[in-house]
This record gives sequence, C-alpha cells and structure tokens, in this order.
Amino acid sequence: MKIIDIIKGEKPSLSFEVFPPKTSDKYENVVEAAEKIASLKPDFMSVTYGAGGGTSMYTADITSRLMKCGVTSMAHLTCVSSTREMIRSELEKLKSLGIENILALRGDIPEEFSVENMEYRYACDLVKEIKETGDFCIGGACYPETHPESENSAKDLEYLRVKAEAGCEFFTTQMFFDNNILYNFMYRMLKAGIDVPVVAGIMPVTNAAQMKRICDISKTALPQRFVRIVDRYGDRPEAMKQAGIAYATEQIIDLYANGVNAVHVYSMNKPDVAEAIKNNLSEIIK
Ligand code: FAD
Repeated sequence: MKIIDIIKGEKPSLSFEVFPPKTSDKYENVVEAAEKIASLKPDFMSVTYGAGGGTSMYTADITSRLMKCGVTSMAHLTCVSSTREMIRSELEKLKSLGIENILALRGDIPEEFSVENMEYRYACDLVKEIKETGDFCIGGACYPETHPESENSAKDLEYLRVKAEAGCEFFTTQMFFDNNILYNFMYRMLKAGIDVPVVAGIMPVTNAAQMKRICDISKTALPQRFVRIVDRYGDRPEAMKQAGIAYATEQIIDLYANGVNAVHVYSMNKPDVAEAIKNNLSEIIK
C-alpha cells in the first residue's frame, strides 16, 4: 500500500521509525525490536538509511521483513556517498522486494567530504531519479525550524517547493517539541503554495543524554516546559522515560486535535516506548 493513501485518509495515523544496526552482530536484535514494534500494528513503519554507507545494506532487508509482518513499510534512501550506479541498483532491489514507499533524503554531509563528487547533490535530484525508475510513493524531509544549513527560512521553503515539484508526495518533519512551531510552518508552506501533506515527526525523549545529542545535531528548540522536565527527572531513568512518553503523547493529542492527522514517532528501536505511546492513544486513534 502507498503511504500517501494512508495519510490522506480520515483516520488519524500513527507510524513508527526504526534504524538498522551499526554492525552486523546486532542485526538480529534490531530485527527482533522492529518486529515487536510491527506487532503493534502501526499504520506504517519506516527504516532509516546509513548515509555514510555503513549499514545501508540492511535497510531494504528490514523494510521487507516488516512488510512480511503485514505492516506497510518505507525504506529511506540518501544521496550522500551514493553513485548513480548504487542508487539504480538499490532501486531495483526495492522493486524486486515489492517495496513501494521511499523517503528520499540528501543525508548529512560528513566532515572533509567534497560535495563536488556527489552524483546527486540534493534530495530533489534523488527524487527525480526515483520517479523515473518506478511507480514508488516518494516522501521527503522538511524542517519546521529551517534546515541548519539554509540561508534563511524563505530559501528553505523555496527548495522545499522544488522537492515537491520533483515528485515528493508528502513531507515528514524533523522533530520539534513545540507544536506551535509546526503550525506556523504549515501556514507558511500553504502561503508559499506548497500543498503537500505533512507527517509530524515526534521524538519521545526518554533520557537526558539523548536530548543533548538531539539538540546538538538538529538545533531543535526546547521549550522551557520541556527543559524543566529534564532538569527534574533527567537523573532518574524510569521517571524520565515516563515523563518523555507523556510529553510526546500530549504533543500527539494536540496535533490530532488541530487537524494534523499523520504522526510518525521516532521510536528508536524501543518497542516498550512505541507500545506505551500507542496504548496512551488507543481510543483516540480508533
Ligand atoms: P535537501 O532537501 O537536499 O536539503 C539540504 C539543504 O540544501 C537544505 O538547507 C536545503 O534548503 C538546501 N537545498 C535543497 N535543495 C536545494 C537546491 N535545489 N539548491 C540549493 N539548495 C538546496 N539522514 C540519513 O542519513 N538517513 C536517514 O535515513 C535520514 N532520515 C531522515 C528522516 C527525516 C524525517 C528527516 C527530517 C531527516 C532524516 N535524515 C536522514 C537527515 C537528513 O539527511 C539531513 O537532515 C540532511 O542534512 C538534509 O537532508 P534533506 O533530504 O532534507 O536535504
């Protein structure tokens, strides 16, 4: 099934993301965790792609295993470190496995990496290639707080439009902890004439170290309300986990209430976190 048909539906959707192992010895553990999340019967799942190449070989395989569990699934794919030949062969593999959904990304540029060598410079270049190759439903990333490398938010939106025109049917957001940031962004998107469904990316922060890492990488703003929670519970792992799940749940309920019908949870290969969120929403997503 194509993800666009799920997120355009009337029913609020709840989906989960998993990531492949960094080393092959962790493969079975990751598959076990991903399949446990799949057993919660989310509306769909996505599997990230190691932009540096390292573990990218597992993405298609794990996506296919999730589909065998009866869950619509999406493979991520990135430009960084990918030659045209590699992308074409990966697309053939996805096709042969019956994978219909791809999240097309540029990937983060590693330090000391020459962008001149990239055969696909931006995600929109990859989107075009995917579109030419087969009948895939293609999604892309968007940044309610503006991509960290962008000159400004207007330029970022301009390039988002290019990505939509290249063939992106929906956008999944970078994580955010203040829903008003998303509502403002969606308003600006519409004003810029980008009428593409948005899937809200929600990260349940379940430990204090994770939060610091997130902010360093994504430059995501943290509301004081959230900082207070981490200050108070950050050194008590079980309390922090409970508070992080509650915060994410509250965000999701507010999103649905305001008409943002598609929510993707960065479940970080943690079935217990995914399950707790799904249970908290059991009546809401019926
Ligand atoms: P692009 O859309 O190419 O944008 C990158 C930058 O270039 C932006 O500043 C943009 O404004 C600018 N730009 C875009 N198009 C043009 C153009 N035509 N001309 C000039 N400038 C342009 N990374 C991974 O490695 N693997 C993953 O699986 C993965 N999954 C992700 C999932 C989501 C939902 C999100 C939000 C991010 C994910 N990332 C992943 C991280 C992502 O790869 C990085 O954030 C990366 O820095 C940007 O990727 P992009 O696809 O948004 O790039």
